[in-house]
Amino acid sequence: MEELHSETKKAEPEPASKIIGLTGGIGSGKTTVAHYIEEFGFPVYYSDDRAKTIVNDNEDLKAKIKELLGEESYDENGIYNRKWVAEKVFNDKDMLHQLNEIIHPAVRIDFEEWVQKQTKYLVFKETALLFELKLNRQCYKSLLVTAEDNIRIKRVMDRDHKTYREVEAVMEKQMPEKDKLKMADCVIYNNTNLEDLKEQTELMIFSIE
Ligand code: ATP
Repeated sequence: MEELHSETKKAEPEPASKIIGLTGGIGSGKTTVAHYIEEFGFPVYYSDDRAKTIVNDNEDLKAKIKELLGEESYDENGIYNRKWVAEKVFNDKDMLHQLNEIIHPAVRIDFEEWVQKQTKYLVFKETALLFELKLNRQCYKSLLVTAEDNIRIKRVMDRDHKTYREVEAVMEKQMPEKDKLKMADCVIYNNTNLEDLKEQTELMIFSIE
């Protein structure tokens, strides 16, 4: 009886769904896999897309970014000046780190709110930085999409109309593939065609228990 009257501290409710971290380097095919996962009926949280929305919607975040990088980080309509910011931080590790320290916690909170609303037994969090930010620790399993460097570069050149060297420069800044392979619980090898990729995705997600 006493228990009924005593003040009990409410803990944050655990999400009902198991979180699978979906990752891969530039051009690996993680977004394509994420779309297949949605086709198979599972929800996907796209961290990068959400970050792009949050930098425009979250006033607190906007103020912090302007304080760090200057007023030019937003245009005259108050829209995030992505290109300008990217150029400013591309070769300034410290600035990039500080920017990430502002954006990543906001995305984390947004994800936590999203995941509490999900009802499927599995949900997927697509992020390029799963291992870099140690987000895999908050996941039930990590799923890495990988492909040979040359294939990834070629696909991004076709997709983004970039030169070989431009894509390679981005790749060189990312965590080496061999390190990601060591950490991943599940791996999809995306070296052939889209049919094979979809089939591997289906087999993989329905084998997760
Ligand atoms: P990024 O991190 O650069 O956003 P990503 O890992 O999300 O890349 P996707 O955008 O899914 O990669 O794939 C890169 C490009 O390669 C896309 O244009 C996609 O359609 C294409 N692609 C992915 N997998 C295959 C495949 N197996 N066969 C042919 N094209 C593919």
